[in-house]
Amino acid sequence: MGTNREMANNLIIRALRGNAKSFSLSSKKIASLPKSIARLKFILALHLNNNFLSELPTELQALQQLTELNLGNNILLEIPVVLKHLPALRKLYLFGNKIESLPPDILDELPNLTLLNVNHNQIKAIPPQIKSLVNLEVFSIVDNQLEVVPAELGCLVRLTELNLTNNKVSSLPPQMCRLSSLRKLYLARNNLCELPEGISGCTSLKVLDVAGNPLSLFPTDFGSLVLEELFCEGNNFVRAELKQSVQEVEVLSLNELAARVVLMEDRNKLSRVHQALPNYPELVSMLSQWGRCALCRRPFLTTWLECVKFINLNKDMGMKRRLTVPVRAVLCSYSCFNAEGHSYYGVASTS
Ligand SMILES: [Zn+2]
Repeated sequence: MGTNREMANNLIIRALRGNAKSFSLSSKKIASLPKSIARLKFILALHLNNNFLSELPTELQALQQLTELNLGNNILLEIPVVLKHLPALRKLYLFGNKIESLPPDILDELPNLTLLNVNHNQIKAIPPQIKSLVNLEVFSIVDNQLEVVPAELGCLVRLTELNLTNNKVSSLPPQMCRLSSLRKLYLARNNLCELPEGISGCTSLKVLDVAGNPLSLFPTDFGSLVLEELFCEGNNFVRAELKQSVQEVEVLSLNELAARVVLMEDRNKLSRVHQALPNYPELVSMLSQWGRCALCRRPFLTTWLECVKFINLNKDMGMKRRLTVPVRAVLCSYSCFNAEGHSYYGVASTS
């Protein structure tokens, strides 16, 4: 590879003479970067993609103004430590390497990153320190080995695009519903059985791709999203021809009955219950998990009926597609379920 190296050196000298702001050694078959790279102190962008790089020289830290670095399609086994010393970095491409982890100490030193692309690697986990990337707008980690998404991802409030396509993720943390800037969320080909309740907290979401998961239905507040595109082929959605379930009258436990009375009373700001509750913090925390009946809007705590309703993307959500999808709904009782004129179907009950 000596000649490739020489050629790289010559290109560096030429870039120096030309006062270039951007420098590329893409597809030059180089296995190492010449130390003379350190002379390109003032470049903003460095493209090293499509080579055979397995490491980067420490000399690279001379490039203190570097904002964009493309290391895609090399043979890196880990994220090069020298990146810790490039604080101006805003866009980092590491796709198509053999990287297995995102080291917390490196993430901590990249607070200006707006784009991180680590597609097609072997990353097994996103560490909690991902929250250090406070300016991250685009995070793409397609085709890796992820099983878990940490709650801290919900701290990335500037995130507009998150791509987790083709991993092994089986659940998403509820904190993700705080991503109010998120416009595009790609979750295709994972192991998701459900999406988090509260997803409508992603108020900017326009594109949602959940194709190729084992989802049976969408969360209760799904219909509140203002989506432009939904991709949901290849899931295990419950079908519209569900039979009405057996209609019986449930016997609620004393706990549940008491909880419902307290929750109802608590709605009235003038009630003695509402005024006294703050004196019982344990009770307040027990009651904090309450839900609301989709039909009568009354509260319940631990007992409800799992139901589903079918919504039309076009008619009910204003999207172009005319597809009908199932959405979770919870009812407080069989008396609500047995009431006439609603379109909730029974799935299973929990108590
Ligand atoms: Zn009800």
